[in-house]
Amino acid sequence: MAEVRLENITKIYPGNEEYTVKETSLTIKDKEFVVLVGPSGCGKSTMLRMVAGLEDISSGELIIDEKVMNDVQPKDRDIAMVFQNYALYPHMTVAENISFSLRLKKVPKDVIDQKVKEVSSMLGLDELLQRKPKAMSGGQRQRVALGRAIIREPKVFLMDEPLSNLDAKLRGQMRAEILKIHQKIQNTVIYVTHDQVEAMTMGDRIVILNGGVIQQVDTPTEVYNNPSNKFVAGFMGSPPMNFLNVTLEVQGDELYLKGKGEEDFSMHVSPKKVTDKLKSLVGRELTLGIRPEDIYDKSNLKAQDMQDSSILAKVDIVEPLGAELYVHLKVGSNAMVGRVAANVVANPGDSFQAFIDPEKIHIFHPDTEERVSV
Ligand code: ADP
Repeated sequence: MAEVRLENITKIYPGNEEYTVKETSLTIKDKEFVVLVGPSGCGKSTMLRMVAGLEDISSGELIIDEKVMNDVQPKDRDIAMVFQNYALYPHMTVAENISFSLRLKKVPKDVIDQKVKEVSSMLGLDELLQRKPKAMSGGQRQRVALGRAIIREPKVFLMDEPLSNLDAKLRGQMRAEILKIHQKIQNTVIYVTHDQVEAMTMGDRIVILNGGVIQQVDTPTEVYNNPSNKFVAGFMGSPPMNFLNVTLEVQGDELYLKGKGEEDFSMHVSPKKVTDKLKSLVGRELTLGIRPEDIYDKSNLKAQDMQDSSILAKVDIVEPLGAELYVHLKVGSNAMVGRVAANVVANPGDSFQAFIDPEKIHIFHPDTEERVSV
């Protein structure tokens, strides 16, 4: 069992007037893989380091398995941390690096040998046990760093951007390896990254942070499909969600979104339900969010009801990616990207009727930037 609970935790660094983490509460369940994600400087590492005991907590409580940990030494927290700079001991072999913490604890040699064997076979390091770090690739070294943490059988694993130093291909492989290891050893993991792809692919749940404040905590699918606000909507997804300024009109159960200024369009949407919240925004200027994959060309419309909801745009640039096409569009002075089928014909300067899946649009409140569900 290892449940990690942050209760109303705030961090203000000495000398700073502003908080780095503000009144944060979060429960990470036993065996859960939780990813903290957000732009650089949003407080992710600070949060992780407070859990590890490497930073003091200014106020609030950190509770692991029902025990308050604020004043417990890092070494007594039963936690292992893997960093971006994995700093192996250069003069030691892989086996010696992996077994270092056990040797320090004077664990009997036969037990250590057995554990090194288990860990190295789990990580595919059997052939490398007698190598020194300098004779290995970045990915292999990162696996040794993981091995060094795994062998301690900690209750909680903390990982701070552990894959940032690897090239894109290796990052993909290591993502899968870390997930496999997690399935095998089933411990609680808190993983920090600024990379939304890592967050989406690895987390049981994702915690999105901005300016030291949690924006949303949910499963990857939920965060992607139902972002709580404009920040989350824009941060998760690549290419990112398109945002357009519109005004809202409601007639009965029908919704009309009108482009502002130069973006001269009127889009009709039939939502499942026009909520009171939407009704209260009639006539206001608000933000319409459309994911690139919810934009269609006339030749590949998904459903009849898209016929009604479209925006006339101009093609700016076309990026063929083989399996699909990114069309960069201009709507008045606004830019918009559509991710359409590879066989769509579009050339710079062409007009492009961008059909929008009305079920998939997002509307954001003009004052709070929160998503008003449609
Ligand atoms: P992230 O991991 O999301 O990039 P950090 O938690 O490292 O962000 O940092 C959050 C903010 O706290 C940054 O503005 C950073 O400058 C500040 N900060 C981090 N460490 C210290 C420190 N030791 N002293 C003062 N400010 C710090």
